[in-house]
Amino acid sequence: MTFTKQAAFQEAFDQYYKDIVELNLSNDIDDFTVTRIDPVTGEVETKAGLTITAAVANIIPPQTAGAIALSAGLADPGWCPVDPNSFASTKAPHIYVLGDSAMANEMPKSAFSAHSQGLGVAAHLAAEIEARPSAPGRYRNTCWSIVAPNDAIKIGADYAPGPLPGGKPGLVPANAFVSKPGESAAERKATYDEAFAWYPTLTGQIFKTTSR
Ligand SMILES: Cc1cc2nc3c(=O)[nH]c(=O)nc-3n(C[C@H](O)[C@H](O)[C@H](O)COP(=O)(O)OP(=O)(O)OC[C@H]3O[C@@H](n4cnc5c(N)ncnc54)[C@H](O)[C@@H]3O)c2cc1C
Repeated sequence: MTFTKQAAFQEAFDQYYKDIVELNLSNDIDDFTVTRIDPVTGEVETKAGLTITAAVANIIPPQTAGAIALSAGLADPGWCPVDPNSFASTKAPHIYVLGDSAMANEMPKSAFSAHSQGLGVAAHLAAEIEARPSAPGRYRNTCWSIVAPNDAIKIGADYAPGPLPGGKPGLVPANAFVSKPGESAAERKATYDEAFAWYPTLTGQIFKTTSR
């Protein structure tokens, strides 16, 4: 099984958590598809027949676009296809879908992505209102993960509309970066500080309490 920021995460796991957290990774989805939960005993049973007794269980329900998007016919079938230039729905005119509900491959589903997409949609709408051509969308994502106090890792990229491998239109990453194992404590602390600076910057921009 592979996952985002894997090498840096595995290093952090070995450094901080290997003696207190049991790690079970699998490529078989049935190993993790929950069929029974007993909140009294903490038992979680999976489709593959595994029974795990957890001290803490974070059960993630099947993921889809929000109910309002599904009932409005914007999804195909679970997520909403959009024009990657503008995030306009391809299922209904004059509707924009952004954030987690949108099919925005290769952009990850994140608050950073959703905010970046929101800026793109606003620019597109402004151009439409002023009856001028809108520039193709340019988007960005960064996802930070705090692995321990003063130690964080990150991954990110810029995204622009274009063909994905296989030819379907999507959002093509460029200038990608990812934290690597073996980075210095000073670099990890800088990433940690960046992560904590991001949230007030984001909410400040959304609610206009800081300038862009
Ligand atoms: C544990 C966890 C950690 C995460 N960490 C990060 C992180 O560090 N960085 C990052 O960038 N992202 C992170 N994310 C992802 C991030 O939270 C989502 O990508 C982001 O919130 C998506 O924004 P959204 O606006 O698309 O959807 P949401 O944030 O889900 O917002 C949708 C809103 O619509 C409301 N709503 C639904 N139906 C209706 C209706 N009919 N009428 C009115 N309102 C309605 C909902 O109540 C909700 O408030 C994390 C997610 C999780 C679960």
